[in-house]
Amino acid sequence: MYIGRLFRSSDLQWAWRAAFLRCIQSRRRGAHRWTHSGGSAYRAVIFDMGGVLIPSPGSVAAEWEVQNHVPSGTILKALSKGGENGPWMRFMRGEITTGDFLQEFGRLSSEISKTTVPVDSFFSLLTSKQVAQQFPVMTEAISQIRAKGFQTAVLTNNFYLASGKSFLPLDRSQFDVVVESCLEGVCKPDPRIYQLCLERLGRQPSESIFLDDLGPNLKAAASLGIRTIKVNDPETAVKELESLLGFLLHSGVPNTRPVRKTMEIPKDALQKYLRDLLGTQTTGPLELLQFDHGQSNPTYYIRLANHQLVLRKKPPGTLLPSAHAIEREFRVMKALASAGVPVPRVLDLCEDSSVIGTPFYVMEYCPGRIYKDPSLPGLEPSQRRAVYAAMNRVLCQIHSVDFQAAGLDGYGKQGDYLPRQVQTWTKQYRAAETSTIPAMERLIQWLPLHLPRQQRTAVVHGDFRLDNLLFHPEKAEVLAVLDWELSTLGDPLADVAYSCLAHYLPSSFPLLKGVSDRDLTQLGIPTAEECFRMYCLHMDIPPVENWNFYMAFSFFRMAAILQGVYKRSLKGQASSASAEQSGKLAEFISNLAWDFATKEGFRIFKEMPAAKPLTRSCHTRAGPQSLLSPTGTRSYSSVSGAPPAHTSKGALVFSVEGLSPQVRELYDRLQRFMGQHVYPLEPELQRHQASVDKWTPSPLIEDLKEKAKAEGLWNLFLPLETDPERKYGAGLTNVEYAHLCEVMGMSLYAPEIFNCSAPDTGNMEVLVRYGTEEQKARWLAPLLEGKARSCFAMTEPQVASSDAANIEASIREEEGFYVINGHKWWTSGVMDPRCQLCIFMGKTDPQAPRHQQQSMLLVPMDTPGIKILRPLSVYGLEDAPGGHGEIRFENVRVPKENMILGPGRGFEIAQGRLGPGRIHHCMRLIGFSERALALMKARVKSRVAFGKPLVEQGTILADIARSRVEIEQARLLVLKAAHFMDVAGNKAAALDIAMVKMVAPSMASRVIDRAIQAFGAAGLSSDYPLAQFFAWARALRFADGPDEVHRVTVAKMELKRPT
Ligand SMILES: Cc1cc2nc3c(=O)[nH]c(=O)nc-3n(C[C@H](O)[C@H](O)[C@H](O)COP(=O)(O)OP(=O)(O)OC[C@H]3O[C@@H](n4cnc5c(N)ncnc54)[C@H](O)[C@@H]3O)c2cc1C
Repeated sequence: MYIGRLFRSSDLQWAWRAAFLRCIQSRRRGAHRWTHSGGSAYRAVIFDMGGVLIPSPGSVAAEWEVQNHVPSGTILKALSKGGENGPWMRFMRGEITTGDFLQEFGRLSSEISKTTVPVDSFFSLLTSKQVAQQFPVMTEAISQIRAKGFQTAVLTNNFYLASGKSFLPLDRSQFDVVVESCLEGVCKPDPRIYQLCLERLGRQPSESIFLDDLGPNLKAAASLGIRTIKVNDPETAVKELESLLGFLLHSGVPNTRPVRKTMEIPKDALQKYLRDLLGTQTTGPLELLQFDHGQSNPTYYIRLANHQLVLRKKPPGTLLPSAHAIEREFRVMKALASAGVPVPRVLDLCEDSSVIGTPFYVMEYCPGRIYKDPSLPGLEPSQRRAVYAAMNRVLCQIHSVDFQAAGLDGYGKQGDYLPRQVQTWTKQYRAAETSTIPAMERLIQWLPLHLPRQQRTAVVHGDFRLDNLLFHPEKAEVLAVLDWELSTLGDPLADVAYSCLAHYLPSSFPLLKGVSDRDLTQLGIPTAEECFRMYCLHMDIPPVENWNFYMAFSFFRMAAILQGVYKRSLKGQASSASAEQSGKLAEFISNLAWDFATKEGFRIFKEMPAAKPLTRSCHTRAGPQSLLSPTGTRSYSSVSGAPPAHTSKGALVFSVEGLSPQVRELYDRLQRFMGQHVYPLEPELQRHQASVDKWTPSPLIEDLKEKAKAEGLWNLFLPLETDPERKYGAGLTNVEYAHLCEVMGMSLYAPEIFNCSAPDTGNMEVLVRYGTEEQKARWLAPLLEGKARSCFAMTEPQVASSDAANIEASIREEEGFYVINGHKWWTSGVMDPRCQLCIFMGKTDPQAPRHQQQSMLLVPMDTPGIKILRPLSVYGLEDAPGGHGEIRFENVRVPKENMILGPGRGFEIAQGRLGPGRIHHCMRLIGFSERALALMKARVKSRVAFGKPLVEQGTILADIARSRVEIEQARLLVLKAAHFMDVAGNKAAALDIAMVKMVAPSMASRVIDRAIQAFGAAGLSSDYPLAQFFAWARALRFADGPDEVHRVTVAKMELKRPT
């Protein structure tokens, strides 16, 4: 029942006859053209179509370009390209087919924007029913013009559709003459087509008025002697037309129309009822109009003698028991009026269905002004501020009503408003679900876990928006709050958040205009935060800290509503462009909701008390010395520095001593495990890697995995931000994990033992973040258990893969399946017999904009058509058993449900995947380096050359010093990036992530290289881990994204900084 209400036409202005008439009269006095009044010289009105009767291609294009990431202005430039002989003009003269036009138009658009432009999608939107709808104000104007005996014509530059019919989405019966360019072979501004139209009307130019939105068309008409009106917006144009014609083109009650046939009510019975209600002086005819809105509960305007009323009734037919509860609206308005809240004055509730067929109520019709556009065009900044302040004050007034004293006890359940609302909207969403929207899935899990405790119960309006408020025509005063259908008792903060929705929506947002792309300071409009603060000040309550939760909930609710709209629009027009558009909107809104949920998550996280006073420690951590020590003794050194400094919330924990007791304990346990189980097994594991069984996983590793699991040292990698409920991992922050990951980095075998190795970690994170419940059950569960392994196939031999947009592999849709073909290499982990899953990146739509061509698909490794060609080696090392494979995918068919997030979302996923996952390598590289330095120190102390230990050679000392300094620098940068990711999010930390990726692999290469040099030839052998470390550090200058790419990122961001 509610669904249509939010999205009824935005022309919801319940504006008012008195004010309107005043305005018209004042215009009459001032307008000299009004002299045509009565004896007007004009006899015919000629309308252009696009931009006058229906939206113009330009306005449709602007919105479409935003939604499809096409550079703004591309479409208009492509349409005007070539002038008279361009494809658009030829198309409108009917000279070329739709197919030819689209091809040419697509080519021009792509040339202009330097990216592929899906012009087909624009064209279907332009010609869709949803967009090509006649403006109601024009419909009414035409009917008034004809009622006065004037002629009407439409003179349109239009075209043929693929069906062979011309594009004219209008009711032809409104016009005496219809002239279509594609049928005539002539286009405006060619004078011949105007003459043709006049001939068919049988009129002289001087007897006609022509409305168009384009200057050249108007100029041509004017040169023939036709009176012209330039249409910038239909309402203003109609007003101008009124003054030329000399009569009103509007019933006088804005947003009303003659009563629809199916909605008629018996006038006699109503008149009798009203006479009884209002008294005997109510004689004369009853005028009845229907408001455009109020489809849920039909709403009528009534004029009877000097009374102006509004009647609201239930719709006819069988209704759900709780639906269309007009009795509740009546009750709440009556109670609130007595409590001093400005609402329309209700006169009577008639529950007797025999009067007009259904129960109804009657209220007074109040004149006033409704602001449909939240940017309040035409007002001064101070006036805008005053309007928003008045809106805020009236909300406080509603929320301050003592609902018990007002007789509204029992108007709704008390307490638990949000839990019930979340449940209700989740149910509504599930009922309308058509495919998985990952953000909705996350919200459905997140919202119930973060419900705030309801501080107060108050009357809540439930749909509190600027355009539900009726303002005084001259001052910033709310005269009436309208539309109480969703009101109940609940958490008042939900209303405050709902009133700020427009702050986060762009002005081009279909269905509900927003101001997110406007300069609020310049406009004088308070920000959403200011609105919340203003509310708290008026209500005298402490500042609302968790308002991001309320925003997340409000957008969640809106997304659920939009999904309902989408589902309904799909019925009967499954593939139409308009249905597709509303589907995208639900997803867009759910992503907005999730942004707020994430912000709230960070807020909660930052509020957490710091675990422990930080220590300013300048310790250096050394690796185990057992491999070096002939006695086999192991020592870990940690040199503490200054005494504990004071805790500051959110400060960077840069030393292990600053970790919380729980994480510190985990860290110590990990160190112990490494010492007891991992380092001692390294030689054996290395032998296995060099043996003929190398492609079979070592049972020793499997054994250690079980031990690690038993000790709780498992899946430590999943960051708290990705897994806030700790459903899948240990819930460590990135900084906490950085300290632990560094320890794991000290041995090449350790990450797998703790189920923290790449590429599984990145793949698991993708599944946690973007996977559906089915995908998680099938793939995430075995990966989290360490039963399966996975790989990630992006890089291709034939293209420069550092630019992922180059990836060529194809993903083609075919009968419920995706068929993939492609050649990949450097797919790490693919050789492992436990590898069950490949996340495959390829193009689903080569015509889409550059960053929307790629998709990611879950490909089971046992699918026919996957051919592993060979393992590649890094400096001769094969990295068995995972390896790095070259593979061909030949007609590999996977079910459609295996798509992650949706077609064209590959880049989006890659960004999410490569956030935390990628600095894990850097964390480990610090571990490599520490271990290399420890090995080097031990070696140079015990080895004598030219009469003294190597450690006493100046160059060796200098190398040790350099290595220490470089490790410390890089570690601080790693920790800083991790800290930023924790407190500000991966996006905000992008620069630090790129910097650390640029720094860590080369730093490790240098430190390891110095260690190798100090070791002599032994350093290159496999007796020590140095050679393998070196190979890995070097490889990570590609595998973690090439250095150059990170440098470009850093430099670009640096150049953006203010100088
Ligand atoms: C050990 C290892 C494991 C790997 N594992 C995987 C895996 O599991 N899955 C996977 O898909 N891929 C994997 N890769 C591949 C890796 O991601 C790619 O090698 C990397 O993206 C670079 O692509 P490319 O090799 O095609 O180099 P190209 O794109 O051909 O680049 C060649 C050179 O040009 C440089 N370059 C690029 N842009 C610029 C610029 N703007 N300015 C200057 N120079 C530039 C690059 O830095 C590079 O040095 C792995 C690589 C290695 C070495």
